[in-house]
Amino acid sequence: MNQSKAIFEEAKQYIPGGVNSPVRAFQSVGMDPIIVKEAKGSKIIDVENKEYIDYISSWGPLILGHASDIVSNGIMDYIHKGTSFGLPTKIEVDIAKLIHEAFPSMELIRMVNSGTEATMSALRVARGYTKRNKILKFEGCYHGHSDSLLVKSGSGTLTYGVPTSEGVPQKVVEDTLVGEFNNIENVKQIFKENQNEIAAVIVEPVPGNMGVIPPNKGFLEALRTITKEEGAVLIFDEVITGFRLGFGGAQGTYGIKPDMTCLGKIIGGGLPVGAYGGKKEIMEMVAPLGNVYQAGTLSGNPIAVKMGYNTLNYLKNNQDIYKTLEDKAIILEKAFNEHIEKAGVPARVNRVKSMLTVFFNGQDVVSYQEASTSDTQMYSQYFKGMLAEGILLPLAQFEGMFLSAAHTDEDLEKTIKASKKVLLSL
Ligand code: PMP
Repeated sequence: MNQSKAIFEEAKQYIPGGVNSPVRAFQSVGMDPIIVKEAKGSKIIDVENKEYIDYISSWGPLILGHASDIVSNGIMDYIHKGTSFGLPTKIEVDIAKLIHEAFPSMELIRMVNSGTEATMSALRVARGYTKRNKILKFEGCYHGHSDSLLVKSGSGTLTYGVPTSEGVPQKVVEDTLVGEFNNIENVKQIFKENQNEIAAVIVEPVPGNMGVIPPNKGFLEALRTITKEEGAVLIFDEVITGFRLGFGGAQGTYGIKPDMTCLGKIIGGGLPVGAYGGKKEIMEMVAPLGNVYQAGTLSGNPIAVKMGYNTLNYLKNNQDIYKTLEDKAIILEKAFNEHIEKAGVPARVNRVKSMLTVFFNGQDVVSYQEASTSDTQMYSQYFKGMLAEGILLPLAQFEGMFLSAAHTDEDLEKTIKASKKVLLSL
């Protein structure tokens, strides 16, 4: 038995499915997981000392690559000065200021420990603010695993066919309405049927959890208009897109100002961090200013926040990075498309900035409807073929590939060569 296998067998004795998050299980591709030994830059090395060019990027956070010295700069000093106080520190102010600079719509910001906490808390605040209960989310969008959001969600719930989790009481999700992404008529209809009842619309402005799907021209604008007209809070879940599409996230890219925003992933530089924020008037509902309670022993943890601050500060001062990241993604997109055509495989590439998905689908993928008809078996074959060539792609069809500053021209060349070989073999 090799080391990976031995570790995974032991893991299964103590951890459900041997993993601390279902998407890591490799179940979707019918194999045992890679057990990571270490990583640097664009490469992951497993316990068998096999090296992979990594496009998972920890599911988004590692925009500067693995073990970046920029991100960890000064971190040992922080560790030696104390890792948690349960009292305010200056670095929390520094990161809030920096986030506000990038996202001016976030006038007040609260740090939390994950994307799940950010969305869960934002909804509570929106409900407190509007004094309404219902929320509208979109099919295939994932907003973390809090009860009321675990309805027709994406990511692992799509991969494993668990559209609604067991253990979520029907009562809790009764107030969760589900709309179709990129279908504004559907949104209008839902508002019509639930007049003065919808507290918030929460959306991944560029969904990454049913694979990457670009918003149709005008869709986000229409959401902004209708929520304003109907007195509902518009929440952009930018846990993936924040600091990924550009320094100002999706809202900066598309020029739309949501009422509230949720962040995670990149803002922690690879440590467990999330944040939510928005209009002052709304965020003043949060305790201790207002009566919506939300708290956290480790929220704004100095080590995590320092790693995040280093990342964001670098991005602020090096915004040309976004063009470079997109250029790399375009190189992959073009080459993949060329080889898809050559191979005659029913597939297409969806790309937004530095996020992309190869959909094994014969039609354009613009919403959950099409995404869900993708050939997941063929994706698995593609994944396995790529892995054998030393390329680590997301483990499932319904996830995005993320480029990082650490991906080199040589990495891209190797990836393209592998993809050509694998596509032609399908
Ligand atoms: N929102 C979005 C858009 C996400 O992609 C994720 C995680 N993939 C979350 C929320 C939840 O974040 P976390 O896993 O940090 O709880």
